[in-house]
Amino acid sequence: MSQNEKTLTPKLVKKLWAAFIILVLLMGASYILITSYFANKHNQETTQRLNADVANHVIAEKFQNASPFLEDGSVNKELFGDLMHDMMAVNQGIEVYLLNDLGEILYSVVLDPNDKDATKSVSLDPIRSFIQDQGEKFVLGDDPRNPGEQKIFSAAPYSVDGRDGFIYIVLAGKKFQEVSNTLMGQYFAKLGLGAFLLTMLFAALIGLLAIWFLTKNLRLIIDTVRRFREGDLTARIENPDSSDISIFANSFNEMADNIVDNMNQMQSVDQLRRELIANVSHDLRTPLAVLKGYVETLQIKNDTLSEDEKKEYLKITHDSIDKLSTLINQLFEYSKLEAEQVTPIKEPFSITELSHDLIAKFKLLADKKGITLKLDNPEDNNMVFADVGLVERALQNLIENAIKYTQPNGSVTLALKKRDKNVEINITDTGSGIPVSEQPFIFDRYKQVGKSAKKQQGYGLGLAIVKKIMDLHDTTITVLSKPKEGSSFIFNLPAYLPSVSS
Ligand code: ADP
Repeated sequence: MSQNEKTLTPKLVKKLWAAFIILVLLMGASYILITSYFANKHNQETTQRLNADVANHVIAEKFQNASPFLEDGSVNKELFGDLMHDMMAVNQGIEVYLLNDLGEILYSVVLDPNDKDATKSVSLDPIRSFIQDQGEKFVLGDDPRNPGEQKIFSAAPYSVDGRDGFIYIVLAGKKFQEVSNTLMGQYFAKLGLGAFLLTMLFAALIGLLAIWFLTKNLRLIIDTVRRFREGDLTARIENPDSSDISIFANSFNEMADNIVDNMNQMQSVDQLRRELIANVSHDLRTPLAVLKGYVETLQIKNDTLSEDEKKEYLKITHDSIDKLSTLINQLFEYSKLEAEQVTPIKEPFSITELSHDLIAKFKLLADKKGITLKLDNPEDNNMVFADVGLVERALQNLIENAIKYTQPNGSVTLALKKRDKNVEINITDTGSGIPVSEQPFIFDRYKQVGKSAKKQQGYGLGLAIVKKIMDLHDTTITVLSKPKEGSSFIFNLPAYLPSVSS
């Protein structure tokens, strides 16, 4: 027995077997009860039909011709008793009662004279119904010896000396009942045993087959789950749609795919994080080393250095501190964005106004490098619905880059265009451009384009921050770039339409 079968046997299979056995026993018991009920009814109906005329016969044949069994209102017990005992000698199962027209028992003849009548009268309704239907209908009447019990009977009316009444013969008398009960008991025992053995045999066969079929797919699934648990991440349930429990099979396969995807994602995020730390520490080291070198020189050679040299050294240390603080700020900003600690607060604002402000802010830097920085179509007032602080941050990074990677005499243009329900924002420069092979990676903070050569120019976090800001606005940024011709960074923001949004 394999491991999965072992785990299946104690619980599921046992429960299935228990349920099955209970079901079969209930069915068997119901079968026996129903069979016995109808067998008993059939037996009683047959007996009543066969003996329907017994009472009539007594009246017609015996009493009309013989001396009357009622004399001056009292029963001729001897005559009545004799006649009845003759009948009972033939059929010991009967008990005979002489009733008056109110159903009161005048006299009874029973096999065992020690038995006393428990009731003094019987209901006449079933007797009248029996006589009216001439014994054709199945009717049950009172049993004077067992109050509350209903028995098959035969009855006939008599009229002697102006007194009316009924001969009432209980066909299933005490003796009949005893014999019937004994036979029934034996019959039941045989039937029960036979039925039990047969049903158990079939139940075992059907149960084995059913449980085997039911658990066939389960075994397969459990085996696959076990393989997956033990590290075989490729384990999947084959042909899940053909399985009886296809929902489960499909769910497992989807879950396994998700787990594997998540693991891969986590692994790659982990890998990227490691690369980020390595790159950032390298980037931190360079300005720090420069800083340390110049500060030491200033300390040691303070007396021998000229004023100009001191100024020059201090400028270099100042630039290094700038670089360090930029990198630390970017790192802080990026880690906050990546940890999803930043929730955009979206509101309507004029992207045109913001663009004007940014152009003004970077004008000096652009002028210094001899670059023309301009806003395209500055008259239109475009409103967008976004987080103004985050959008400003993204635009800053993009403009900074554009200026950084553009040669003197080049130009940087910020263009805003209304497009359907969006405003398209385009930052185009005539700078160095980005090789096609490197374009897919520029938004990944650590895979700096043209690594070693350009490394000194930036830290590779600016565009990663831009990308995160785009994600927070459910939008994407596209880069179109040709080396030596320039680059365009394009993204859309939802336009603010006062009638719709307010
Ligand atoms: P960095 O601090 O290095 O500028 P970014 O994330 O801002 O980091 O940019 C990633 C890389 O993409 C840059 O190192 C640069 O090679 C390239 N890049 C970004 N913007 C431009 C641009 N406008 N022109 C050319 N190259 C660019």
